[in-house]
Amino acid sequence: MLLKRILKKTLKVKRHKVVKVDYSDNQLNFYLDVHKRRRLPCGTCQTFAPQRDRLPQRQIKHVPLWGIPVLLHYRPVRVSCPKCGGPRVEDIPFTSGKSRMTNGLVWTLSSMAKLLPWQTVSQMFNVSWNTVQSAVKQAVDYGMKHRDTGKVIYIGIDEVSRRKGHTYMTVVYDLEEKRILWSGQGRKKETLEAFFKEHGNSLKGSLKAVCCDMWQSYIDVVKEHVDEDVVLVFDKFHIVQHLNQAVDEVRKQEAITLKKDNPELLKKTRYIWLKNPENLTDKQRARLGYLEKLNLKVNRAYLLKESFRDFWDYRYPAAAKKYLAKWFWWATHSRLEPLRDFAWMLRKHQQGIINYFKCRVTNGVTEGMNNKVKTIVKRCYGFRTIPTLQLALYHCLGKLPEPENMHKFV
Ligand SMILES: [Zn+2]
Repeated sequence: MLLKRILKKTLKVKRHKVVKVDYSDNQLNFYLDVHKRRRLPCGTCQTFAPQRDRLPQRQIKHVPLWGIPVLLHYRPVRVSCPKCGGPRVEDIPFTSGKSRMTNGLVWTLSSMAKLLPWQTVSQMFNVSWNTVQSAVKQAVDYGMKHRDTGKVIYIGIDEVSRRKGHTYMTVVYDLEEKRILWSGQGRKKETLEAFFKEHGNSLKGSLKAVCCDMWQSYIDVVKEHVDEDVVLVFDKFHIVQHLNQAVDEVRKQEAITLKKDNPELLKKTRYIWLKNPENLTDKQRARLGYLEKLNLKVNRAYLLKESFRDFWDYRYPAAAKKYLAKWFWWATHSRLEPLRDFAWMLRKHQQGIINYFKCRVTNGVTEGMNNKVKTIVKRCYGFRTIPTLQLALYHCLGKLPEPENMHKFV
C-alpha cells in the first residue's frame, strides 16, 4: 500500500516495517514492527546486538499528512548489549530517547517556531503549546551538543531586561559569528561566573578580547577568568549611552528650574539634544538653532556630547588618550554635575576605554540582536519562565547546527 511506503520513506527506516495502517478518530494510525531476527543497534553505545524482549507500546507523533494527525504505534525492542553488559533499549531510528515525537516532527515544528509565535505553530500542526516547546528543546539540545565553541575570538557581554526595569538576564555574544553563546538569569558576579565555569576552558587560546559595559561585577569576573593577554574593551555603545543619560539629566534638572518662568522652553526637546545633528528633522533643527542662542546648561552639555564624538575617530591609542584628557578637563570644569560624574567614570575606567583603539570591538552587533531579543520576548507571550525564554533565544539567535537533511523527508 502506498501510504506504508511513503511513511517508511519519510521515516528513513530500513530494519523496521509498517504492518498496518488505519484511519480512526480522525487520525492516521501506523503500526510498526521490526524484522524478528535482525540485530539492532544499542541505544546507549550503538553496538549491534541480538533482540531480547519488547517494551509496552508507545505512541509517537509524526508530521500531519494533509492536516490529518499521524500517530505511530510501536513496541521498542530491548537488546542484550554485549558492550553495555545487559538489556538496553534499541536505538530507534525515527525518534530520540523518550521523545513522543518523530525526529521529522521535531525539526518541522522547531523550524517553524523560529519564524512564528509558538501559539501559531501549535495551531497549525494541531499540537499543544508544550509539544512545540518540547520540539524546540530537542532542537536546542542537539544544537548545543554539536556546536563549535572552540574558535571564539571576541565575546560581548550585555544585559537584557525582560520587561522595562525588570528581571535582568546576562547574555554573552560571540561577536564574530553574531550569535548568542550563553545566557543566565540575573546580572550579578555569580551569573557571569557560571558562564566562565562552563566555557572558560574552551575559550582559552582563541579569545582575544572581551567587550562589556563599565559594570564592576562584570569587570571583576572577566579579569579573574581570562588570560592576561586578553584585552578588556569597554563598549562604545554603552559609553555613548551613559553620556546621553548625563545630557538628559542636565535637561531634566534645567527644566525643573525653568518650570516657573518658562515651562514651555524645554518641552519635547529630549531627542533634539540626544540625536546626532545630521539626523534631526528640519523642525527640530530650527528649534535647536533657537535654543542654542540662549546660553542654556543643556546646550553646554550638548556641546560636550558632540565634541566627544571626535574621540572615536582617533586612530592611535596615544592620541586618543590625549584627547580624552582634554575632554576630561572640559567636562570637569563645565559646572554640570552629570557630565562631571560621567567624566570621572571615564577616568576610572580609562584603560578599558583606550583599549578600543587597540582592538576595535563593540557590542554594536548585539544592538541588532537586542532588538530581536525584544521581538522574541514580545512574540512569545507564553514565556512565563526564564528557562523557556532562554530556550527561545538560543533557538533563534544561537546559530545552532541542525542535522543534515532534517527538513527533507524524501
Ligand atoms: Zn550498548
